[in-house]
Amino acid sequence: MKKIWLSPPHLSGNELQKIQQVFQENWIAPVGPQIGEFEAKISSFLGTENRPVVALNSGTSALHLALKLLNIGKGDVVICQSLSFAASVNPIFYEGATPVFVDSEKDTYNLSPDFLEEAIKDQIKKGRKPKAIIAVHIYGMPYKVAEIHRISAQYQIPIIEDAAEAMGSFYKNNPCGSFGDLAVFSFNGNKIITTSAGGALVCKNEIQQNKAVFWATQSKESEDFYLHKEIGYNYRMSNVLAAIGISQIEVLEKRVKKKREIQQFYASFLNEIEGFNVFAESSSAFKSNHWLSILEIDAQKSPISVIVIMKKLADKNIESRRIWKPLHTQPVFAEFDFYGTDIAEKIFENGLCLPSGTAMREADLDFIKTELLAAVKNA
Ligand SMILES: *Cc1c(COP(=O)(O)O)cnc(C)c1O
Repeated sequence: MKKIWLSPPHLSGNELQKIQQVFQENWIAPVGPQIGEFEAKISSFLGTENRPVVALNSGTSALHLALKLLNIGKGDVVICQSLSFAASVNPIFYEGATPVFVDSEKDTYNLSPDFLEEAIKDQIKKGRKPKAIIAVHIYGMPYKVAEIHRISAQYQIPIIEDAAEAMGSFYKNNPCGSFGDLAVFSFNGNKIITTSAGGALVCKNEIQQNKAVFWATQSKESEDFYLHKEIGYNYRMSNVLAAIGISQIEVLEKRVKKKREIQQFYASFLNEIEGFNVFAESSSAFKSNHWLSILEIDAQKSPISVIVIMKKLADKNIESRRIWKPLHTQPVFAEFDFYGTDIAEKIFENGLCLPSGTAMREADLDFIKTELLAAVKNA
């Protein structure tokens, strides 16, 4: 039986030709013309040519360099959305800083403006004013940009925008990745476009861009010998992978269109079932790329639990996946401050990510529909 994956890579078909060119020119290194070309394409997609982009080997390293650019160091406090992947918070530890977790609101699953403000006020009262806020567009759904950035401005705390899952999403017609003081994309294999592994950092100016490239390439000073005055990292994107990125970003719009159709498809039959709802935008200000379609279950009304559905789909070789387990409930982060209630936890308990691969055919979607309906019927 064929396996239906959650969100597998979807090539445009032009990648091999681009890679061949790279091989012919022998730019098989973390340096070469394709890196600059890919960065320019990301900048131009953002419509902010004055916001330079640095292509890196992962979204995680982009987050790490964003923290370094904001001078985050030992003992500093950084606020992080709890409902996210561990990569959002791990780089805080690379710099010896301390995370403070904040709960979500239900409309977008992202940072609750109320709990965010409560966290800031309380941390200030304790003499630990947060030095940055990591705000995530989880599953591609934009966070409440106006509210969150108003708080950021009021308290003068910069925002690192984790747009790893949100390339091609928009808030009030502006692209995700263009809002933060710094922003981050991921091109990991499961993301909406991929370079197999990769990421990008969106900067505000050339000074930041140059510094990020410097750190990402081992902090080598411009001398005719190897001179180092700072700790460096090996974080630059491979030129071979940048060639893949160039071909991928060309089809981003198509991929977003398909992801949104998949979400609509699920909504068309799942929203008819008592206790079921497919996660959607709460107003026209938000346009999600619907990186993953999510089924929300009302445990009181639904005939079937998230875990049983997941198991039944798995029996048919259909991959589905639980929501990110809130970071403040992870054993490794349990000791850190958290502001909120049980909103993120409820989203985790009652949500299921459904197969959202853009290469799926109508027959695949019909098969998933049949199996989902059968699971409900036999519950
Ligand atoms: C994937 C992801 C990252 C990390 O990106 P990598 O390229 O895998 O390092 C960070 N934050 C979120 C929300 C992600 O989904």
